[in-house]
Amino acid sequence: MEKSTVAIVSGGLDSTSMLWHLVSEGFDVIEILTFDYGQRHVKEIEAAEKIVKEFGNYAGKSVPHSIVDLKSLRAILAKGALTGDEEVPKEMYDKESQRATIVPNRNAIMLSIAVGRAVTVGARYVAYAAHSSDYSVYPDCRPEFIEAMDKAMYLANLWTPVNLLAPFQHITKAEVTSIGLRLNAPLHLTWSCYVGGARPCLECGTCLERTEAFKLNGSPDPALTPDEWVQALSLYEQHSADSK
Ligand SMILES: [Zn+2]
Repeated sequence: MEKSTVAIVSGGLDSTSMLWHLVSEGFDVIEILTFDYGQRHVKEIEAAEKIVKEFGNYAGKSVPHSIVDLKSLRAILAKGALTGDEEVPKEMYDKESQRATIVPNRNAIMLSIAVGRAVTVGARYVAYAAHSSDYSVYPDCRPEFIEAMDKAMYLANLWTPVNLLAPFQHITKAEVTSIGLRLNAPLHLTWSCYVGGARPCLECGTCLERTEAFKLNGSPDPALTPDEWVQALSLYEQHSADSK
């Protein structure tokens, strides 16, 4: 009970690194939640399933994985590029255009449900992988939001308190990646692209951000073939030159 945790895992780089980090910090992950809010990158959910399986081997126990179906929200939250019909912007991740990828109030919705689940299964914490590289686009990854949400969730469940864990809130995506690499998390299984093709597009905001994170760590992206990595680096150079 004391360190029991429900973890929100998308199938991406950040939440996968977080799972391995939580174990290394002595947290007991008793359930993993993946939210399906009708996003285009269904590939992320398939990735999450593989990652959870790997995590079971690492943690030495099989960890229940629930896919939370929020697809019905699509009808009322379908403004963003991740759920609606808008184009996914092919620009650097910190550009204003990336705001099209905001699902309105996403983290507050996900965290509320995850906290409800934590109360149900008797977990003490809910963990999610917000990090500081997301601040410029996603306000619900900022420490101010995390602190306020933590307090609200705690007060809402005072007899069975749950706290939020956001262990990466003060570090960058490159630092998160470095933790994942160091802990041998299965980053080759992760999926980040927002476009929804059979292979990563290599030039949407998340693909570019991911390339930057591996580049800063001096490591090729293990989810890409050597040829794709060369192409990813060249697209990254191109887009970062464009944004100067
Ligand atoms: Zn992409």
